[in-house]
Amino acid sequence: MALTHQLLAWLGKAFAKNKLNILIYHQVVAQHDVMRPSEPFAEEFDWQMQLVAKYYTPISLSDAIKALKSDTLPDNAICVTFDDGYLNNLTVAEPILRKYGIPATVYVATGYSGGSNMFNDRILDLIGDTQHAQFNLSAVGIEKQSVNDTQSRIRLAHKIIGKIKYLHFDERNEVVDRLYRDNQAQEYDARMMTPAQIQELAFKGVEIGAHTQDHPILASLDVEEQQRQIVASKEALEIILSQPVKHFAYPNGKLNDDYSEQTADIVKTLGFDSAVSTHWGISTVASDFHQMRRFTPWDATPVKFHLRMMLNQLRGEQ
Ligand SMILES: [Zn+2]
Repeated sequence: MALTHQLLAWLGKAFAKNKLNILIYHQVVAQHDVMRPSEPFAEEFDWQMQLVAKYYTPISLSDAIKALKSDTLPDNAICVTFDDGYLNNLTVAEPILRKYGIPATVYVATGYSGGSNMFNDRILDLIGDTQHAQFNLSAVGIEKQSVNDTQSRIRLAHKIIGKIKYLHFDERNEVVDRLYRDNQAQEYDARMMTPAQIQELAFKGVEIGAHTQDHPILASLDVEEQQRQIVASKEALEIILSQPVKHFAYPNGKLNDDYSEQTADIVKTLGFDSAVSTHWGISTVASDFHQMRRFTPWDATPVKFHLRMMLNQLRGEQ
C-alpha cells in the first residue's frame, strides 16, 4: 500500500510540476451524519489529512499564490479550503489540521454568524427529523409527502433544495420559514461560527476568506447588489479579525450559473488577491487567480482517494 502511495507521489513530482491542488470541503462532522452522507466525518477527514501531510506539501493559500507567481511552488503543493463557516471547522477539523501541521482557509458567509442556519441545512434538518413522517410542502408546490426511510428523506430534501436554490435569498428564506411553520418544526441549533469563534479559528492560524453575506446566487443579482454582498462579508470579517481579508469564494461557485465574469471583475476591483470557484481542476501561474479551480476526491479508501487526486493533477488546468 505504501508503495502505491509513493508511486503516486512520485508521479506528481515528475509530471505535475508547478501545479497547485486546492481541496474543497464544507463540513467535517463529528460523526457520520445520515442526512449528509457526503460530508466527511472526523475519522475520515483524519486519514485524508494524514495522506495530505505525508505525500503532499500543504501550504497556505497566501503562500501558494506568492509561490505560483514567483515560480517557487513546491512539488505536490496543496491547499485545504472550507466553504460557508461551519462551527465544526473549528471544533472538529481544526484539531486534525493542527495534528498534521496543515494550513487551511475557511470562507465565511457572514450573514449566518448571528445564529441562523443556511437554507439547505434547514431543509435537511426539517426533512431529516424522524419525529415527522409526513410533511406539508405546499410552500414549494409539492403534494403532501410521507417518508419512511433515510434514502427517501435525502431525496425529498434535495428535491426541495433544488426547487428553491435559485430564488432570491430573501424569498428563499421566506419559503423555508413557511415550511417550518406549516410543519410546526423546531429550528436546529446554530451550525455556523459566531464572530468570537471566527476570531478563535483565525487565532489558531487558519486563514479566513469572504463568501458574501447571505450566500446568494451572485449571477442573478445586479452589479450593486453583488458588490454589497461581497463588500459586506469582507468588511464584517475585517472588523472581527482586525486585518485585511484577501481571499474570496463564490457561493456555489459555477461560472455563469452562480457567478459571472462581471462578478470576478468586482472581486478583483475590491482588492482580493484570489477567488476560488467549484470547477474541478488545478492552478498554474497561467490561471486566473480570481477564478481558481478546486477538487476533492470522494473516495472512501486512501488509495483511490490518492489516485483520483493524482489524475486531477495530471489533467491540467481545465
Ligand atoms: Zn458556500
